[in-house]
Amino acid sequence: MRIKVLGSAAGGGFPQWNCRCSNCDRLRAGLLKGPARTQAQVAISPAESSWLLLNASPDLRQQLSEDPEFAPREGTRGTPIAAVILTSADVDCVLGLLHLREFQPLLIYSTSSVRRALTEENTLFRTLERSNPPVRWEVLPLGQAIPIFQPAPPSKRANLLCKAVRLGGNFPDYVSEQLRQSLKEEEAVIGLHFVHNDKQFFYAPTLPGRAEEWKRCVSDSDLALLDGTFWSDDELIKIHGSGKTARNMGHLPLSGTRGLLEQLQLNGNVRRVLMHMNNTNPALDPESQENRTVRDAGWEIAHDGMEFEL
Ligand SMILES: [Zn+2]
Repeated sequence: MRIKVLGSAAGGGFPQWNCRCSNCDRLRAGLLKGPARTQAQVAISPAESSWLLLNASPDLRQQLSEDPEFAPREGTRGTPIAAVILTSADVDCVLGLLHLREFQPLLIYSTSSVRRALTEENTLFRTLERSNPPVRWEVLPLGQAIPIFQPAPPSKRANLLCKAVRLGGNFPDYVSEQLRQSLKEEEAVIGLHFVHNDKQFFYAPTLPGRAEEWKRCVSDSDLALLDGTFWSDDELIKIHGSGKTARNMGHLPLSGTRGLLEQLQLNGNVRRVLMHMNNTNPALDPESQENRTVRDAGWEIAHDGMEFEL
């Protein structure tokens, strides 16, 4: 299975268009040595010429058109994208679905609560119904591995299995109180645990850290791409003078007591990679102490264009 990081930043990208934090300012001035980043997007390929998108970022059109592997292959219209798998109804995870609306039949996997949050109140998403056949939604049940990609016969390749792992997050603010009452909160934010042949991959770009199962998923995996949004819990408050804490926004910070680095000290062979990096995160600067701390703890930081093979 191939895994591609098409975008590695949190919402807003890096630099963020309206942000003058030290990172964004120095990146624009050429003083920060790291690369610019588009908003979080991962694609996985369980078989040649077939791709599954993990979420659909606001930068999806740019991300797909810059990579020849996603170009249409045959006929006058087509795509190697077999399906989209959503981890939440967050704007940064779903806005790209609208980029895929060009009369292209789509298969979307999500929890039933995420599907309802998107389709029952957001009439804009009805634009996906215009293709023929219209968009098809498949339910991702919590805690149960389901086959998500079955290679066509006579291929003897294994199915790709995907299990939705509850992470304990909340629905986005745009979901009305009325709808919220009939949704299941445990379905709001999930991690994706993939098994393909004898390899395992865990994906959690948003990790609220309020449930514990994710740790076992990481330690069972060969590769884990995890939430690296914020370095510290009060990062936005310190930089912008106001805002929510990282934990209140549903992100376990990297540093501090019960932060991600402290909670996940593995000695095994799991390749641990941070993504969904917010533009304010000091670890984005390759010359910072925070970046060194991350690397010394055995982590890598994803960049746009990073690839893995499992
Ligand atoms: Zn910034």
